[in-house]
Amino acid sequence: MDDLDRSGADGLPDGFRLAPGFIDLQCNGGLGIDLASEPERLWELGTLLPRFGVTAWLPTIVTTPDGVVDRALEALAAGPPEGWRGAVPLGLHLEGPFLSEAKRGAHPARLLRTPTLDAVDGWTRAGGVAVVTIAPDLPGALEVIGALVERGVVVSLGHTPATAAQAETAIDAGARWVTHLFNAMAPMHHREPGLAGVALTDERVHVGLIPDGIHVHPLVVTAAQRALGDRLTLVTDAVAALGMPPGRQTVGRTEVKIDDTGVRLVDGTLAGSNLAMDQAVRNLVAFTGCDAETAIRAATTSPARLLGDPDRGALTAGGAEDAVVLTGDLHVVSTYVGGELVFGGRTGRRTGSVVRW
Ligand code: ZN
Repeated sequence: MDDLDRSGADGLPDGFRLAPGFIDLQCNGGLGIDLASEPERLWELGTLLPRFGVTAWLPTIVTTPDGVVDRALEALAAGPPEGWRGAVPLGLHLEGPFLSEAKRGAHPARLLRTPTLDAVDGWTRAGGVAVVTIAPDLPGALEVIGALVERGVVVSLGHTPATAAQAETAIDAGARWVTHLFNAMAPMHHREPGLAGVALTDERVHVGLIPDGIHVHPLVVTAAQRALGDRLTLVTDAVAALGMPPGRQTVGRTEVKIDDTGVRLVDGTLAGSNLAMDQAVRNLVAFTGCDAETAIRAATTSPARLLGDPDRGALTAGGAEDAVVLTGDLHVVSTYVGGELVFGGRTGRRTGSVVRW
């Protein structure tokens, strides 16, 4: 009762804050789990993400050998193991293989494919595909974008040297998200603004951004946040190195070095991020000076709106009942999925905007 005596209208002790649960639209792995090599472990990874405030996520499969996407879809369709509790996978994000070789980043060139209707046969929202990232400059891209959109899939534009005109045409065809703004796309030039320029100005698209201060300079994060407002969606793009200690580690089949300059191959090349979602929210505040509510929206209501599931990003009784209790400086205290505590101290339950603490 001591805590209740000191609590405010939301049932929390002074200085704490209740927010909707964080939604990560791009997560390739974490805590030693690499979904590209072991997609079956997506449920296990889901149990580990609530420590970062994540209550829903899109297991993300990068460009991989034939069969991996099907294995991931099967694992998702099979549902969680008995008694499972964790961050809910809302469908897969397939980042590849329809990416442009010129902007492939870490995706293996030999596995990239030209988009065709045959290649996306069976990819539907109901079948477990939530987002597909596609390079709009590739031949056949527009037809595939139209087909996926008709099947309820959110199409994102990325890993592309696309011009502004090509990006606008793809948005006309139904694309509604942009994958990790500024990374793996043509830089914005004042005479050819490219996909980045379109992302910053076209109100039809939400825009993903990795705010680790490494993939995008903090000053550019600030410029993007101010231009995008609530169209900004924070992503981690985390790999298996997320949550692993500094030093040399083997993630998947690759040896990497983890330090405060990120996750790098032994030769120094960036090899994904080890950004946690709660750190992403804190970084947005630190880099841009925006208020906590604005930063939290970029991790909650904005991704939920993109997915057409606004209840997930809101604190409404009868909604998803996913929430996170944060300290005043936005560190995770406890995380709730479906009203049940899945991470943190205190037992408890929340309903709507009230926590029984
Ligand atoms: Zn990427």
